[in-house]
Amino acid sequence: MKDYLEIFTNGYKGYANYLWQEITQISLHNYFYWLIGVSVFFFLVEMVKPWRENQNRFRKDFWLDFFYMFFNFFLFSLIIYNAASDVIVNLFNDGLQLIGIKNLLAFEVMTWPIWTHFLVGFILRDFVQWWVHRLLHKVPALWEFHKVHHSVEQMGFAAHLRYHWMENIVYRTIEYIPLALIGIGLRDFFMIHIFTLIVGHFNHSNFRLNLGFLKYVFNNPQMHIWHHAYELPENRKTGVNFGLTLSIWDYLWGTDYIPYDGRDIKLGFPEIEKFPQSFIGQNLHGFKPSNHIPDQDSNV
Ligand SMILES: [Zn+2]
Ligand SMILES: [Zn+2]
Repeated sequence: MKDYLEIFTNGYKGYANYLWQEITQISLHNYFYWLIGVSVFFFLVEMVKPWRENQNRFRKDFWLDFFYMFFNFFLFSLIIYNAASDVIVNLFNDGLQLIGIKNLLAFEVMTWPIWTHFLVGFILRDFVQWWVHRLLHKVPALWEFHKVHHSVEQMGFAAHLRYHWMENIVYRTIEYIPLALIGIGLRDFFMIHIFTLIVGHFNHSNFRLNLGFLKYVFNNPQMHIWHHAYELPENRKTGVNFGLTLSIWDYLWGTDYIPYDGRDIKLGFPEIEKFPQSFIGQNLHGFKPSNHIPDQDSNV
């Protein structure tokens, strides 16, 4: 058995160097500049052609979301990628060897052409994430963490990455096994990560774009705003439009919901006025057992 702590610390040390390189070297394989570039692009789009014209360009909580953006996308998600993923890979492989299995790959995707890695990995990951997102709404304890994302009251691109860091743990843990089964590790995810970043920023942006028939495939602002709706239909209290990058899962499972143009609908969830407004307060909220109300059926 390997020393998992050592693997974790090495991953972490490597991360410090990596972080420095990310900031000092501009390249196409650099998360830091992609995040800045994509954010600047959507900031300009919102400025030039806003959907809600009377919404402030620096809307409510813009700077809070700006902070979340770097905290979640850059710092935390890369720490998980670089340190925790090494541990998971080793645990997973050791576990398999313990029960006498050397190779559990259902399909050996790595021998396929490179574009298929992207496509298969992307579709499978998005599908798993769609289920995880439903779970975040369904399980009361998880919903209390997910409320951070739903505490957005004025929508804009930066709201995309306002979420509790616990979500990273839930998503990464659940999506890892199915991806490992087809031989795609967390490290192969650069392209998928950037693509989902672009579509995620788009979904949350204050921008209207008619995708035509592609709206049945890709998530979009007109659909995702309803996911953030304060008021939900009586029979759909655990939420609607759960799609992250793809909208197709909602259409296939009948969880799609766009009753009319949602440009000006009220966003949030019941009793949002009691929800903490600060980064620290929001990050502590989900850990307080008194906040977990098992019978609550008002999940948004
Ligand atoms: Zn949600
Ligand atoms: Zn959202």
